[in-house]
Amino acid sequence: MLIQLGRQWVTCITKRESTPDLQRVSTPDERIAQSLTSRRKSCYTFSVSEKLIHEIIPVGMLQCNCSILGDPETHEAIVVDPGDEVERILEILRAQQLNLRAIVSTHTHIDHVGGLARLHAATQAPVLIHEADLELYRHLDMQAQFLGMRTPESMLIEDFVKEGDSVRWGGYSARVIHTPGHTPGSISLLVEKERESEQRYVDRLKPQSAKASAEAHLRAHLQENAAVVAPSRKGELAPGRLVSGDTLFQGSIGRTDLWGGSMKDILSSIREKLLALPDETLVIPGHGENTSIGAERAQNPYLR
Ligand SMILES: [Zn+2]
Ligand SMILES: [Zn+2]
Repeated sequence: MLIQLGRQWVTCITKRESTPDLQRVSTPDERIAQSLTSRRKSCYTFSVSEKLIHEIIPVGMLQCNCSILGDPETHEAIVVDPGDEVERILEILRAQQLNLRAIVSTHTHIDHVGGLARLHAATQAPVLIHEADLELYRHLDMQAQFLGMRTPESMLIEDFVKEGDSVRWGGYSARVIHTPGHTPGSISLLVEKERESEQRYVDRLKPQSAKASAEAHLRAHLQENAAVVAPSRKGELAPGRLVSGDTLFQGSIGRTDLWGGSMKDILSSIREKLLALPDETLVIPGHGENTSIGAERAQNPYLR
């Protein structure tokens, strides 16, 4: 199957260039996102209440946001979208004393997979993509040709993730949400603290009264059945964070005019799966600044 890539790829992977001006009204979510952004000029680290290590570094010519997610207690980690600059990624893993458990790409455009083979060779960590993007990965040479760059090393990918799978490291997990549209196998990853550890926390409560016991039971039951689209439970659990690849950007969405793209699919992926997440969910897009589900629900011009 031939891959047809538009010339315009060279200029921009996102639709940002055609985004109309927005009336900006800062919400609390946006202020959080902005403060994170202001620290992001180079590489930055931030921790949420549950002490997740999350370093985001823009890598390569197209400045793909590569995420390094680590558990400071177990020292296990995953890397998402190692598009390039593998030495820099390895340096961060060494500095944080993290052992890599898995490498995941949100989709197989060259700017998100250029470093897969080198990172795998250096760490032996398994590489995971959605199988619907395997064909695109097999044509890295054509992608490189259109960008006028050298074809990066590639590798045999045999492990695939699908909707509903979880990638686990230490006490954390990332639930796979299949969000086709930018490419057929685009995925978003919802990073959460492992439910198992929360279950243990509930068990440790040892309620004294029948009422407290019933409440604890109900709470455990709710957590047990938490779905990707679980409603917001303010004050109970830290909000999740979504690594959205090139599906959802701050004020924009991924382009759909490249091989396998579909405007209909990307809009339904975002509306039905991503906007179903709680407003406070922090979004880390594949390029550019952080945002939140609430901010995009309110202001993204492509989602009106
Ligand atoms: Zn892309
Ligand atoms: Zn990209």
